[in-house]
Amino acid sequence: MVASKTMVRVRFAPSPTGYPHLGNIRTALFNWVFARHNNGTFILRIEDTDVTRLVEGAVETIVDSLRWLGLDWDEGPYFQSQRLELYREAADQLLKRELAYRCYCSPQRLEAMRQEQIRRKQPPGYDRRCRQLTSRQRADYEAEGIVPVVRFKSPLEGQTPFHDLLRGEIVFENNTLDDFVLLKSDGYPTYHLANIVDDHLMEITHVLRADEWLSSTPRHVLLYQALGWQPPQFAHLPMILGPDRAKLSKRHGATSITEYRDMGYLPEALFNFLALLGWSLDDKTELLAREEIVKHFSLERISRTAAVFNREKLDWMNGVYLRSLSMEEFTRRAMPFLERDLPAEVKRPLDGGYVRRIMPLVQERARTLAEVPQLTQFFFVDGLSYDTEMLLTKLGQAEVLTALRVTIARLKELPNWDVPSLEAICRALAEELELKTGVFFGLLRVAVTGRTAAPPLFQTMEVLGREPCLKRLKAAEQKLAAT
Ligand code: GLU
Repeated sequence: MVASKTMVRVRFAPSPTGYPHLGNIRTALFNWVFARHNNGTFILRIEDTDVTRLVEGAVETIVDSLRWLGLDWDEGPYFQSQRLELYREAADQLLKRELAYRCYCSPQRLEAMRQEQIRRKQPPGYDRRCRQLTSRQRADYEAEGIVPVVRFKSPLEGQTPFHDLLRGEIVFENNTLDDFVLLKSDGYPTYHLANIVDDHLMEITHVLRADEWLSSTPRHVLLYQALGWQPPQFAHLPMILGPDRAKLSKRHGATSITEYRDMGYLPEALFNFLALLGWSLDDKTELLAREEIVKHFSLERISRTAAVFNREKLDWMNGVYLRSLSMEEFTRRAMPFLERDLPAEVKRPLDGGYVRRIMPLVQERARTLAEVPQLTQFFFVDGLSYDTEMLLTKLGQAEVLTALRVTIARLKELPNWDVPSLEAICRALAEELELKTGVFFGLLRVAVTGRTAAPPLFQTMEVLGREPCLKRLKAAEQKLAAT
């Protein structure tokens, strides 16, 4: 066995303060792919130390989203809320070595200070008042029963440089860093402390995270130094922007992964799509299966510039993946959407045999699974509701009535109700009625489906069956006669 140090160990470390959005899961995916590419370890760690911002159900949604996309983890989920002792020990160590200090400032004082800084247009940050407390003063505060926070003693001058695998050397001026909190008065660590303690204890080798965390990294580097630990390597992933080049948000449509699932996107399509939000194989390949992405993934090919989310591209890609499914698989995946979205009047459970006959008519056309019920609803409902005018777009009322009556009579007697027979008789009818086939078929389509655009007409009629078709043609005739 090779020493674990040389193996890649990465983590996805979401805070359960909301449902995971595309950006979060893109981070998870890059970490997962990087781990799999390197035969490394992918760890799931829930950073639940901000108790005031916990959102109910967020952990379950994170887990569901990862499972749905097939981002399986090798260790975890670890919960930081169950590891508080470890963070306290680290804070104690820093206190003992005077690299951190207890701060007794009240929330009111901190707030007043913040307001004053805003008023004076000064950068925000703690004014370090408790950094110089004498032991006497400290004892007085303790005697008053004030529960302190622990703050890090940031260096007052100098620079903190670090290397980012994507951006190269980055240097922060220490005088821009304040004495940030490590341990809150409720005993919970802040993100900074818990994050680095865990990255260290979990032997994380690479931190791949969204670039909004870049400004936290100098603090982390200073903490590693203070604790005498070796920091992992860092790579800050490019932002994801909406088509308007603003940071991707709810405004650009659904952002949580489970919403995409519920809208009928396939996990394999979303996987492919997310992998290309910031990474590419070359300048042209768009369709890449999970295994290919794992095989070819490299940090070198992560873009330095922001990725742009393009919903049309996702729809297109999802359509490609939908069409590549076997009919059986397509049907299996569409079934829950049909059960969910077909009108309530349609009897449940649906008739599997009937559904299987309909699916080949829509597989080519659907871009999402949620479109399947919309596209096929007319197969299931009893009566159609559509505007009578749709029957009259090309022909007058008398002509349409005649056409419908003649058609009904002929279709009643058609010996075989199948596509070739239907096509033959309808072509003959068009000729007999002296109507262009396009016009006549269009009329039949509206009468039979209630729509002007629908799957191929004769296949539709075959699947619908003789009685329902005749019933619909008669209903059209009556609708029209009644106007
Ligand atoms: N808990 C942070 C988040 O919610 C983790 C950031 C990091 O990966 O360091 O994204």
